[in-house]
Amino acid sequence: MRIRLNNLGRLHANLKADFISAFERVLDSSAFIQGEEVRRFENAFSNYIGVENCVGLANGTDSLEIGMQALGIGVQDIVLVPSLTFVATAEAVVRCGATPFFVEVDPETLCVNEETLRKAIEESPKPPRAMIVVHLYGRACPMGEIIRLATKQNILVIEDCAQAHGARLQEKFVGSFGEVGSFSFYPGKNLGALGDAGAATTKHRDLAEKIRLLRDHGRSEKYVHQIVGRNSRLDSLQAAFLSEKLKHLPKWTLRRQEIATLYRTELQNSKGLQLLAEAVEPQSHVYHQFVIRVQSERRDELVKFLSSQEIETIIHYPLPVHLQPAFQRSLRAKNLDHTELAAQEVLSLPMDPLLTDKEVLEVTMAVRKFFL
Ligand SMILES: *Cc1c(COP(=O)(O)O)cnc(C)c1O
Repeated sequence: MRIRLNNLGRLHANLKADFISAFERVLDSSAFIQGEEVRRFENAFSNYIGVENCVGLANGTDSLEIGMQALGIGVQDIVLVPSLTFVATAEAVVRCGATPFFVEVDPETLCVNEETLRKAIEESPKPPRAMIVVHLYGRACPMGEIIRLATKQNILVIEDCAQAHGARLQEKFVGSFGEVGSFSFYPGKNLGALGDAGAATTKHRDLAEKIRLLRDHGRSEKYVHQIVGRNSRLDSLQAAFLSEKLKHLPKWTLRRQEIATLYRTELQNSKGLQLLAEAVEPQSHVYHQFVIRVQSERRDELVKFLSSQEIETIIHYPLPVHLQPAFQRSLRAKNLDHTELAAQEVLSLPMDPLLTDKEVLEVTMAVRKFFL
């Protein structure tokens, strides 16, 4: 492929020297587990998000699960989750013993909002204990109205920020609105490690302590285990690599937003495709993906055509979670039509911070040519 969906090789080529010196720091210290590098990254990331506590974890799925566990969510509890998301969001609910209830999305943004959540609360067989809002594709969900609804209904809010590092609403970052913010640093995410990694953010100090215990065998000191935990520690090497990449994140985010603007300008009048709603504020969308919608009968043809032009695309996600074999019998909203239609129509175009204007124009010209 000449134009990759997310060209990590190109991104990392420029950072090779920084990664090597980070590797040497860890190697020379022999502190491979926990230690200074993990603390250093946790501090840097919590400063960036503007939330008091950050706990490094093994991956983003664990951070959802451990975050819920720390909040006391478990058997008997219903947790609202969107169905248009990566499977991990719902999986974490099941893993912590609770039951997911699948919520519809707003057709304009493909994120949950006050209205779809309210409907789900009404339809739920009993009052939900919590909700996971997913800032899908990097777009911040409308947190003002969501927090108001949740507070009124006494529902805990967990934010799945796996795709939205740095997205903010009036200067407040996602991951600082709910009880817990869950981040993934899977390599392809806006901030990605060189392997698996994740983190949980929270304004509550006691909750952060609980998460720290849970990630490390419930250990308060050597061979003293306060609670039954597990091993979900953030690797020191990954923490060191992440510290190097975090320095570049603000600049990378701005470039993603620039690329999205160029895509919109070039595609807004094209026949045959639809753009999602514009971001309510420029900083509220960090474009993990730039997603267009194409009538389902033509989507596969477009994918093939772009691929013949050596342009890589992907579908996020072809099958909503409530239709996955593993979740066939799960609780769900009566109506998930927008979710099901979106799954048939969405297509993610190439997006990475080093994508050039020339490459973006090549993509948009190819898309327009297809619909001529
Ligand atoms: C990537 C992702 C996760 C899972 O993160 P991992 O680090 O791969 O475990 C969870 N939710 C969403 C929305 C994601 O995109």
